Amino acid sequence: MKELILCKYGEVVLKGLNKAHFEHILMTEVRRRLEGLGDFATWWCQSTIYIEPETDDCDLDEAFRRMKLVFGFATVTRAIAVDKTPEAILAAAKNDLPERLYGVRTFKVEGKRSDKRFPLSSPQLSAEVGGAILEAMPHLKVDLYHPEVVVRVEIREKYAFLHAGADKGAGGLPAGGSGRAMLLLSGGIDSPVAGYMIAKRGATVEAVHFDSFPYTSEQATEKVLELAKKLCAYTGRMKVNIISLTKIQEQLKRTVNEEYFTLLLRRSMMRLAERMAQTHFCTALITGESLGQVASQTMQALGVTDCAVNLPVFRPCIGMDKEEIVQIARKIDTFQTSILPFEDCCTVFTPKHPKTRPELAKVLEEEAKADLSALEDEAFAAARRLTLHGYAAEEE
Ligand code: ATP
Ligand code: MG
Repeated sequence: MKELILCKYGEVVLKGLNKAHFEHILMTEVRRRLEGLGDFATWWCQSTIYIEPETDDCDLDEAFRRMKLVFGFATVTRAIAVDKTPEAILAAAKNDLPERLYGVRTFKVEGKRSDKRFPLSSPQLSAEVGGAILEAMPHLKVDLYHPEVVVRVEIREKYAFLHAGADKGAGGLPAGGSGRAMLLLSGGIDSPVAGYMIAKRGATVEAVHFDSFPYTSEQATEKVLELAKKLCAYTGRMKVNIISLTKIQEQLKRTVNEEYFTLLLRRSMMRLAERMAQTHFCTALITGESLGQVASQTMQALGVTDCAVNLPVFRPCIGMDKEEIVQIARKIDTFQTSILPFEDCCTVFTPKHPKTRPELAKVLEEEAKADLSALEDEAFAAARRLTLHGYAAEEE
């Protein structure tokens, strides 16, 4: 039995004149993700990318798993591919489809003939294939209105395809079509989710992580790299920049009113993230902030943080409850890593009574006392940059 993977576009189909541009991006992404899994032929036609194994040793299971995580596909299907003759189609319906219908009680068949030269009309095709399935599995019943499974038969340009249901794709838009953005990635639950959400809208996401060694541990940084690797399942690859905030935190601790410590630290993080973004052609920042979650995420505090930078700041979790964020974290498999108990730099030297309604003038006055610019230059110059792809990290 020959099987192909069919990846059907989601929103990309609405892209009009830009559609070919997005198709090229998707195709590049698909080929990159198939690396190491064997020789495949890939092509696109009618809003679908086709993946055909060319040798017997291709890892189709892994290819299928990876394709379900590529942004831009609405559905991903493992389809039985046969010659475009009624005989071959009916033979596959009898011999190959039944194993995909175990445990099913009701079904219907939807035939579709894109190639109008095929001798049967779509309704005839559906009826014939339905009959063949019933011959092989007489206990099944046809239910045209509420079937448990819809068997699809599609006569396309090269093959006829049969399958018993498509899997949901990752949705969203193809990676890179929406530009580049810099994610402030902590070890928490929210920022990996925020990165995932913006990557899903077609941005190439890279990350910046701030450590505060030795106040934070090596394991805390390892944990963040682990989170970035988990995101790579969706993004394919990811650059992670690591900047040490230790001296900046010590300076703030020494010089500013404690109530402003966290806010000033966050402004410093935003400035450094913006610098990193501009160096690597990112045109937006992303954070995992959610309105009211902690003192530094009140409306006033977010306003004061935003003023530190000129780039737009995307906060996709802003209107979400923790429970909703956790749900996505579980789906993208970052949750279990996020809850490992390591210190984040934001929890080092935290004040007992942080300002929740800061005034910008007062914030700037305190910031002037700390005189951070030389320390920020130094921290930026010492940044490390890693490339993560699959499950390996390389230092640049
Ligand atoms: P998260 O669950 O993502 O850690 P949080 O609820 O812990 O978020 P904060 O610690 O206040 O919230 O951080 C708010 C946002 O600031 C984070 O979502 C992240 O975008 C950014 N951030 C916090 N700490 C760091 C860090 N050490 N490195 C990079 N970004 C950070
Ligand atoms: Mg955090």
